[in-house]
Amino acid sequence: MIFDILTIFPEIFDSHLQEGIIRRALLKKQIEVNIINVRDFASGPHSMTDDRPFGGGEGMVMKPEPLANAVQSRKDSKARVIFLSPQGKTYNQGLAQELTAEDQLILVCGRYEGIDERFISNYIDDEISIGDFILTGGELGAMIMLDSITRLLPGVLGCQDSVAKDTFSRSLLKHAQYTRPRSFEGMDVPEHLLSGNHQRIEDIRFIDSVERTLAKRPDLIKNVTFSVSERKLLKLSGLLITVEEIQKTGKY
Ligand code: SAM
Repeated sequence: MIFDILTIFPEIFDSHLQEGIIRRALLKKQIEVNIINVRDFASGPHSMTDDRPFGGGEGMVMKPEPLANAVQSRKDSKARVIFLSPQGKTYNQGLAQELTAEDQLILVCGRYEGIDERFISNYIDDEISIGDFILTGGELGAMIMLDSITRLLPGVLGCQDSVAKDTFSRSLLKHAQYTRPRSFEGMDVPEHLLSGNHQRIEDIRFIDSVERTLAKRPDLIKNVTFSVSERKLLKLSGLLITVEEIQKTGKY
C-alpha cells in the first residue's frame, strides 16, 4: 500500500517512520511512504505555500496551487485523496479497516487556518477528522492513519490473531492482560491464567471483555452479535439480561 503524505513540515515524520512496526513494514516493502514537501511545488522566489485570507480575518490560508501540483505529481487514477480536517468524518477502527482496501492514499495535511476551499472541492475525495478538537496541523492525524492502517495489513503484525482480538475489532474492548511478575504490589495475577486450561482462560477473557465494555463503553454493545455459546456464557455470568436490554432499547 502506498501512502503519500503532503506536508510543509516533512521532518515531523522522521522518527515515526524509523521505529517499530512501521519501520519493519517499510523494510519488508509491505508499505511505501512518500513524504512530499508541498513547498517544492510552490512557485515564486519565496516558495510561498500560504497567504492572507480574502475578505480579511485572522491567520493565513494554504494556497491551492502548490497543493494541486503536489497531488498531481503523485496521483494515480486509483488513489484516494484525503484531507485531514476537523470538519471531516470522525476516524475510527472501521474506517481504518475500510481503507486497507485502497492501493494508494494521498493524505493532505493542512496548517494555519486551513486550506483554500477550491483545492478541497477539486482534489479531495474524503475529509477525515481524528476527533473533535483542533490541532495545529494535519501531520499527527496522518501519522495516526498511517499507523492504524498499516498494522491491519496482512502480514504486518507477527500474529494476525492479535488484530482480530483487538479492542474495537468486534465492538468489544479487549480483556485485561498480565505479565511477570506473578505478584505486584500485593496483587496477584488471576489464578485462572496460570491454570493451563485454555478453554477456561478463553471463557473468562470473553466475560471480562463484555464486563469492561459494559463498564467503559456500553454504547459499543449495541453492535455486537454474540454466538450461541457466547450467549450461554453471558447467561451463566448474569450479564445476558443487561446486554439484551441495551441491544433492545439502545439505552445504557
Ligand atoms: N481554522 C480551522 C477550523 O476551524 O476548521 C482549523 C485549522 S487547524 C489550526 C490547521 C490544520 O490542522 C487543519 O487544516 C487540519 O489539516 C489539521 N487539523 C486540525 N484539527 C484536526 C483534527 N481534529 N483532525 C484532523 N486534522 C486536523
